[in-house]
Amino acid sequence: MFGSFLQPQFMPCPDCGASVPTAEMDLHECARERWLDYQIFQLRAEVASFDVQLAAFLASPRGRFESYYAERQRLLAAAW
Ligand SMILES: [Zn+2]
Repeated sequence: MFGSFLQPQFMPCPDCGASVPTAEMDLHECARERWLDYQIFQLRAEVASFDVQLAAFLASPRGRFESYYAERQRLLAAAW
């Protein structure tokens, strides 16, 4: 009896976060740009930590070597 009263009128799309009328959920197609923005938004903590992790790697002995080696390879390629 109260089931229809408890149904929300809109639900967030789990893939793009768009607020979609519940009755149209089966017909919903994610807008590509909105889907991409939502996926990036969900990864924001990982994206934010990337710079910190990269800086830590580049400061490590292995990272310093990789940086030196990449620069050396770039200069050798430019000399050809
Ligand atoms: Zn969607």
